[in-house]
Amino acid sequence: MPEPLTPQDLLALDRQHVWHPYGPMPGKTAPLLVESASGVRLRLAQPVEEQAELVDGMSSWWSAVHGYNHPVLNDAARGQLERMSHVMFGGLTHEPAVRLAKRLVDITPEPLQHVFLADSGSVSVEVAVKMCLQYWRSVGQPRKQRLLTWRGGYHGDTWQPMSVCDPDGGMHELWQGVLPRQIFADAPPAGFDAAPDAAYAAHLRELIARHADELAAVIVEPVVQGAGGMSFHSPAYLRVLREACDAHDVLLIFDEIATGFGRTGALFAAEHAAVAPDVMCVGKALTGGYLTLGATLCTTAIADGISRGELPVLAHGPTFMGNPLAAAVADASIDLLLSQDWVQEVKRIEAGLREGMAPAASIPGVREVRVLGAIGVIQLDHAVDMAAATRAAVREGVWLRPFRDLIYTMPPYITGDDDLARICAAVCAAAREG
Ligand SMILES: *Cc1c(COP(=O)(O)O)cnc(C)c1O
Repeated sequence: MPEPLTPQDLLALDRQHVWHPYGPMPGKTAPLLVESASGVRLRLAQPVEEQAELVDGMSSWWSAVHGYNHPVLNDAARGQLERMSHVMFGGLTHEPAVRLAKRLVDITPEPLQHVFLADSGSVSVEVAVKMCLQYWRSVGQPRKQRLLTWRGGYHGDTWQPMSVCDPDGGMHELWQGVLPRQIFADAPPAGFDAAPDAAYAAHLRELIARHADELAAVIVEPVVQGAGGMSFHSPAYLRVLREACDAHDVLLIFDEIATGFGRTGALFAAEHAAVAPDVMCVGKALTGGYLTLGATLCTTAIADGISRGELPVLAHGPTFMGNPLAAAVADASIDLLLSQDWVQEVKRIEAGLREGMAPAASIPGVREVRVLGAIGVIQLDHAVDMAAATRAAVREGVWLRPFRDLIYTMPPYITGDDDLARICAAVCAAAREG
């Protein structure tokens, strides 16, 4: 048996040795030590602000849509664990990967027929970019190498994804000049229901037309820009992108890593616009938050183009590609989602967030309160005091992770009405004190 470690021991070792997301070394603020999680609750190893448990308002960054320790997902993991947790994917295949790929093809827009199982969201974006660049090389247009996106986006932390993250507001400002230079359109005008702005649509068309001969693809998050600023835009701009890409021989990539699996009220955000991309990335909620897994889907035209090229293979193959454990849980998670009235559950959460967060609009320093699907956002007119806002939420018994000028929540779909009210109260408290 390993030596027992007290919570104090663990936190001291954590501070000394363990990197956390976007953190310094050693860490400045102590993380909360989680002992276990069940349903929508995180159980702390020691009480904080007199709370032994916190209602999770974050779904572990969009992923735990069914909550924690779910019996159906536990069974899927256990069952697969007893058969095999992993085998290599080169030269071998297995039922969990095949089933998952078929299911993803069935539930995503019709032209997407082929699936690359990647090990995380960022890797799925790397693969999407590689697919597009390799496609153009294969069909004799090797100059088409650059990407176009709009400002305010987030596509992950590895190199190609970083190059299409927001160049100013994001965390990647530091790397200007080192990253591949991509083409940035203005951020889409805000508002899911806002009437589309003709001048902005013309701006998108003009940029795509002007750079067509060097553009491999346009990559965007459809409808909701997540970690780049939690903003919503009209689905009409996705139709503009689709038409301009078709007119100028440019591929269209939708990054649905945050928006996929019902979060915006549609199974995939592309459905709000009735637009199919050429390439689509999913991740985050793909495994219901159990294990890391991403997927890149593409059309038959792209797959054919690559497979007829000078290097007639898609040159990518991570060690843990198609991990059976993750694939089995992902398939069970999608099954679980589709077997219930998830549309109604997301609508219920949307209504609860609208009602519960409305009072925040009159808090001094709040610029805007916005809700779409199971996403609630408060934008301040100043940078949030992260520590004060987090503490205020914890005092209300809720886990939130504010950033920049934003306090936001995307609760698990299983969140009951009482817990939802509690999350809203905590979001308002965080806005007041942050
Ligand atoms: C989180 C996220 C990614 C990166 O996924 P990881 O699994 O963290 O690598 C990419 N795109 C979007 C839209 C995301 O929200």
